[in-house]
Amino acid sequence: MSTPPSKGRIVLVHLYPREMSIYGDLGNTRCLAARIRRHGYECVVHDHHPGMPLPEQTHLFMGGGGQDSGQSRVEDDLAVIGDRLHGLASDGTPMVMICGMYQMFGHAFITHDGVDLPGLGILDVTTRGQSTRMIGGIVLDTGFGEVVGFENHSGATMLGSGQQPFGQVRAGFGNNGVDGTEGARTHNVIGSYLHGPILPANPRVADALIAAAAERATGRPFEPAELDDSVADEARIRQIRRLLSTSAKSAKSAKGAKSAKGGWVSSR
Ligand code: GLN
Repeated sequence: MSTPPSKGRIVLVHLYPREMSIYGDLGNTRCLAARIRRHGYECVVHDHHPGMPLPEQTHLFMGGGGQDSGQSRVEDDLAVIGDRLHGLASDGTPMVMICGMYQMFGHAFITHDGVDLPGLGILDVTTRGQSTRMIGGIVLDTGFGEVVGFENHSGATMLGSGQQPFGQVRAGFGNNGVDGTEGARTHNVIGSYLHGPILPANPRVADALIAAAAERATGRPFEPAELDDSVADEARIRQIRRLLSTSAKSAKSAKGAKSAKGGWVSSR
């Protein structure tokens, strides 16, 4: 059987796979590359390490989470490639930035010890490290439907006044555990706390990024193939059901505890 001709060539850049890629975030790069190929396009994955030049042609970016120490190790390089990333982002290049890299795409991440790591300011968000961590399964309502993932961060992120969030929290903490927002979205840049990894569990988000990348790479509308996502869909739906029922139960017991003791009980 002869292979059909490629619909085009998409260059996917994984930012800092050594320093910034935890809790399975590498799965996002693997998911994007696999889906790009299954849709009938060629995919070139470029691992970007500090000190390296970016390729001339780039159509899609992925950056993952990391420790605070990893974030300080990539800070200098981000300052070098920052102008290029700003230009690409405002020009509509799709990018997905998770947790630590989401924080670095904001104005700053101020660690719990008071160290100020300046970010790129592509997203109008600012993050401060807290003494407690926000950990667990998380469910969102987003422009791509319900999205599920896993969060683990001590940074609490506040959105600037005009900044659109990525989604609204239905279960979990999100940006700060207080205002019900999760992540941020500007042009085709998505910043989010969701590990999991987010893209294999939520293929609609992956395909939205791929569609924008394919259009940029070929100058033509995205020509998707029909992919079977039944296993991912089933896994996501079950996980959402489980997390929503657990969060409803804990909200109920917190309410009971509050009236019993007459004191303050967090609903989370
Ligand atoms: N250091 C950041 C925080 O804890 C990022 C963590 C992460 O990427 N999972 O807020």
